[in-house]
Amino acid sequence: MADQCLFCKIVSGEIPAKIVYQDDSVVGFVDIAPMAKNHLLFVHRKHSPEICHMSLQNPEQLVEVMQAIAHFALEQKIDQSGFRIVTNCGPDAGQTVFHTHFHVLYGEKLGRFGR
Ligand code: AMP
Ligand code: ZN
Repeated sequence: MADQCLFCKIVSGEIPAKIVYQDDSVVGFVDIAPMAKNHLLFVHRKHSPEICHMSLQNPEQLVEVMQAIAHFALEQKIDQSGFRIVTNCGPDAGQTVFHTHFHVLYGEKLGRFGR
């Protein structure tokens, strides 16, 4: 756990969150400022700062998070209706929390994205 990392504190339970998914490796919780009807964040329990670090240093973590999202999607049947996964990396993408996380948006028709 990285000291002062908000999402490490959510994973450890030090800071409360509305948890919607958990397994041995991954936690999913509700985003505090939703950008869609349903807006979740999926994180690995082990700290990494962003997706490049995770992908190159601990690629198995990336698989574990994606599998967790897939399990959740099938369980909620949103594999049928559709959903979007987003990860922001660095300043131009507006990353604000430096614990690798994947936004999962669903529950309505989503707008296009980009600029
Ligand atoms: P990003 O801007 O991609 O780094 O995403 C960080 C996300 O964390 C934002 O969508 C925030 O709304 C969300 N967030 C910040 N604090 C909390 C919190 N205490 N609980 C849940 N989500 C949070
Ligand atoms: Zn962390």
